[in-house]
Amino acid sequence: MKIFIGEKMTDHLDKMLVGIAIGDAYGACYEMLTQKQVARLFKSKGWNYFDRPIGGQYGGWEGISAGQYTDDTQMSIAVVETILRLPKYLPNALAFAFVECYKRDRRNGYARRFQEFLDSIDSGAELLEKIKPHSERNGACMRAVPIGLYSEYIPVVKTVAANNALVTHNTPKGIASSVCVAAASYYILQQKGCMDDLSVFCADLVQDICTESAEHFDSAPWVSSTDELCHPKDPNKGIPCDGMRTAGAVLHILHHYSTDPLEALKQSILLGGDTDSVASPVVGILSAKYGLDWIPTELKQGLEDGPYGYSFLLKKGKEFAERSL
Ligand SMILES: [Mg+2]
Repeated sequence: MKIFIGEKMTDHLDKMLVGIAIGDAYGACYEMLTQKQVARLFKSKGWNYFDRPIGGQYGGWEGISAGQYTDDTQMSIAVVETILRLPKYLPNALAFAFVECYKRDRRNGYARRFQEFLDSIDSGAELLEKIKPHSERNGACMRAVPIGLYSEYIPVVKTVAANNALVTHNTPKGIASSVCVAAASYYILQQKGCMDDLSVFCADLVQDICTESAEHFDSAPWVSSTDELCHPKDPNKGIPCDGMRTAGAVLHILHHYSTDPLEALKQSILLGGDTDSVASPVVGILSAKYGLDWIPTELKQGLEDGPYGYSFLLKKGKEFAERSL
């Protein structure tokens, strides 16, 4: 298996994983806060990581330190490692990679029950045996960016993205969200068309999987207010941990701000709610497109650089980018 690197690809694909991690770590500072809380904090903190506030009005249960990335990045690493290792991208292999990545580097940021589940099992086989993969949340789409570079053929990308969801999110909405983010990555990084057509490209691909998601993706860039992308009952709560709404938010941001990546990151945060799962795919795609020069120095220098931090992500990203046809 070779990863397609077409003639028109950018020179920055190796930066994709670092970008995913920076969007994730920065978004994690604001995770699950309301839009009002985010706006207030963003004003005082600017482009710096900080320990995510927990408890009381901020909710949350686990500590994430400044500059630490979360599940979005760790699972994207697992996707990349699976693609690099195997001739075929099999859901079973992915299950093994998820468990391997978590066990060698236990970290917070996962949904509480999923993290308890990961703590309770010892192998990919056990994950496959015990998991109930009926989630409609955003766990499949948050790790789908690398899949957009799997092939120059979109039907192949679609199949792999669907496989990506099967392990944990085997539901029409879970699968559609994974296909949507992989397709957005494919469309932008393999330069398949103008941004005005991005959402219709993604919506068409999921029409046979989930019509509600297709409609949502189609309209996501054109909403009269971003409130329509957020929590249906209380937009101030921001983007819920829901696959369809997270992928819709990613499309909205990419459509409007892909030529101004720093603004794209800011707007991903200001939506509130599950900020890391919106910012992570957005920054991953835009870092693979533009490189890292646009990212504030504080965010590059502040990203964790332990055994699985900045240097590891860059090295792994290079391996991924070098697998050309
Ligand atoms: Mg996360």
